[in-house]
Amino acid sequence: MLDQALTRLDEAARHLELDADVLEKLKYPRETTKVRLLIRMDDGSRKSFMAWRCRYDDTRGPTKGGIRFHPDSTDEEVETLAFWMTFKCAVMNLPYGGGKGAVRVDPHTLSKSELERLSRAYIQAFSKIIGPDRDIPAPDVYTNSMIMGWMADEYASIVGESTPAVITGKPIALGGSLGRDDATARGGFYLVRHLAEKLGLAPGGRVAIQGFGNAGQHIARLLASDGYKIVAVSDSGGAISCPSGLDLERLFAAKRTGSVTSLAGSNGVTALPGDEIVSVECDLLVPAALEDMIHAENAASVRARVVLELANGPVTPEADAILARKGVVVLPDILANAGGVTVSYFEWVQNRQGYYWPVEDVHARLKTAMEREGEAIWEMAAKHATTLRSAAYVHALSRLAQAIEAHGTQQFFAS
Ligand code: GLU
Repeated sequence: MLDQALTRLDEAARHLELDADVLEKLKYPRETTKVRLLIRMDDGSRKSFMAWRCRYDDTRGPTKGGIRFHPDSTDEEVETLAFWMTFKCAVMNLPYGGGKGAVRVDPHTLSKSELERLSRAYIQAFSKIIGPDRDIPAPDVYTNSMIMGWMADEYASIVGESTPAVITGKPIALGGSLGRDDATARGGFYLVRHLAEKLGLAPGGRVAIQGFGNAGQHIARLLASDGYKIVAVSDSGGAISCPSGLDLERLFAAKRTGSVTSLAGSNGVTALPGDEIVSVECDLLVPAALEDMIHAENAASVRARVVLELANGPVTPEADAILARKGVVVLPDILANAGGVTVSYFEWVQNRQGYYWPVEDVHARLKTAMEREGEAIWEMAAKHATTLRSAAYVHALSRLAQAIEAHGTQQFFAS
């Protein structure tokens, strides 16, 4: 998986004149710590869970990235996600490197108190690694603001003082930022709006959303409020479609009590088999679930004009090539879903200033950042005649290279 991700680095490097030191530094994670967490279950037994924190690269600042709780997490997945965070923070010009954490667990099988003990155990294990100037976690797949609150609280009791800037995505009452909850989707939404004309998208366009968690639900609401029609949605229970547009309130209600698939069979809503959500006829396809959802076997069946990657790594490199040949434009993850970490940065800034911004300021700054970097990447893709993904990597890599080279390069030391 990391090897696949690194092909994008190699490809970007071809467009830049880089010192060999740069690639040598970015090819490997700086450090990955793996710990077995042992927690007490409600029935009195003890159970252990594998947990990781990877700090991939910290040249541009403290490492930044979420913690996911997922039954399929592996060393390699955490390192790949941390690699993507390194590039994402550079794309947005945030003063951060990239990191990521995970616990191999299905959190739905835990009670609330078990989940709290697991979250606190994670911080006990990694308290020496994280810190407001070292490594700053945040939410990711199956983690949320409540978990970030427990984690911030645990960190404060270990170091003996309130340290809100050690973690972002916290509840507002514990120093979270307004606008962090929907920031991932909102960043993608601002990007789509800004590039809509160039992409041939317009309100009234049909949208299919794969994954109906935080990012999926918020993008549905934002796009619908702009006049887009949500024609298909999936979650872990399956997928549904309705060519005339799904009713959002019903979708949210179904999700609150289970799966969106409970809507199938009435009001013109039909169930879709397997991963057919990917091939639904629509203008905009939004993968908002996990990695590798659009791959060599199903990429040819994509019928969308544009793909907005709100998940991390939803399109494999093989699928990228197939989509490019078909003329499908992919708004790449390291730009498209960077709204989350951008508002995390705003949260960290507010924590350090002890001064909190109104939500309008958060939105305005996020919009400016998405439009600025989106425009730069669009122009770079035109200039180099590449995909937006390659352009985003070139854009990030040139910033990373500047920082790495500023420490002195091979040329400097050899002469
Ligand atoms: N987990 C999110 C991501 O993959 C947010 C990371 C953060 O806010 O630090 O971008």
